[in-house]
Amino acid sequence: MKKSYRYRIYPNKEQKTLLEQHFGGTRFIYNRSLFIKNLMYSKFKINVTEIDLNNNLKLLKELHPWLKDQNSQSLQQANKNLLTGFKNFFEGNGAYPTRKNKKDQNFSFQVPQNYQINLTTSKIYLPKIGWMKIVLHRDFLDKEFIENELVTKEVNGEIILDQKLNRKFDIFKTLTVSRTSAGRYHVSILIDNHVPEPEPVEFDEKTTVGIDVGLKSFAALSTGEIIDNPRFLNTSLDRLKKLQRDVSRMKKGSRNRKKAVLKLAKHHQLIQNQRNDFQHKLSMKIISESQATCIEDLNVKGMVRNHCLAQSISDVGWSEFIRKLTYKAEWYGKTILQIGRFEASSKLCNVCGYKKDDLTLDIREWECPSCKTLHDRDINASINIKKIALNNLSTAGTAGRAC
Ligand SMILES: [Zn+2]
Repeated sequence: MKKSYRYRIYPNKEQKTLLEQHFGGTRFIYNRSLFIKNLMYSKFKINVTEIDLNNNLKLLKELHPWLKDQNSQSLQQANKNLLTGFKNFFEGNGAYPTRKNKKDQNFSFQVPQNYQINLTTSKIYLPKIGWMKIVLHRDFLDKEFIENELVTKEVNGEIILDQKLNRKFDIFKTLTVSRTSAGRYHVSILIDNHVPEPEPVEFDEKTTVGIDVGLKSFAALSTGEIIDNPRFLNTSLDRLKKLQRDVSRMKKGSRNRKKAVLKLAKHHQLIQNQRNDFQHKLSMKIISESQATCIEDLNVKGMVRNHCLAQSISDVGWSEFIRKLTYKAEWYGKTILQIGRFEASSKLCNVCGYKKDDLTLDIREWECPSCKTLHDRDINASINIKKIALNNLSTAGTAGRAC
């Protein structure tokens, strides 16, 4: 769902002049392009396209050098808006586009990309204008986005939202700068929060995938796919151990120790970022390739305490992955089905249902004594997780109807 958030900004004197120039420049381009489009059609029956109009910008900049100081993307957006106006008109959704007038009180222009917001100091950056004070009187960004550094970066301890970082998520759309007649300036940020449509996507056996948390690998899918732990993570973990040793070797309170501690902290952040990145990509892939995802409700804390598997389990960050998977499923109307952790998904043969009670953790592959199928331990488990989840669902459904 798309939502707009409007905030007041406080440009300085110089910036006010630049903003006024942008209001004028985008209006000028809009009117000029409208003129060209009308003329070319009435005289030559030529349908001028957005590309034509954008190419013409170069020429207009030569003829009117004051346009060169302006954000080209804002000028191009004026062309886009004009063509949207035409499209709406031809589809019966609006009036024929007309010239924009200063008298119309229409003082606005758009910044499609490359804006930044410093959330720590409450400042906004617009290309060709610079940094200005912004009053963020309400949150427009889910804390989850900041925590996971989806669209923000940290510079000198300050959190900065960078529209450039947004490309793969496509959350931050066009920003509109406007001035009221009272001389107040505002920005309006269009955000697509990816909240799913109210109707959930339907799923069946074919469009459902089961996932089992891997120990050697990151995960196994019921499709037969094994997702390996990313190699960079292992390299980073080796370096982490070295940095930890460095810290412990240095004298407490010494300057070198402080430096080493800082290095270690930075490296922790790097690993966190790498892991987040990997998990985001994978959860996105799984959510987009299936309509429902079945997982085991693992009590990760319990497992970490009880086993020597501690290292691998905390490293793969399974519970964090499930969290990402779950909210992405919500965004896209997909379903997550969980099964209890005590359902013996590993020990059952997914083909004939034979239960192999003596299956220990070190056995990676096994042959079913009953039907002779050769199983990869994790893939077999993921298929069972899917079967059990879908079965629980249909039983619950029947019970529901019976009531
Ligand atoms: Zn079997």
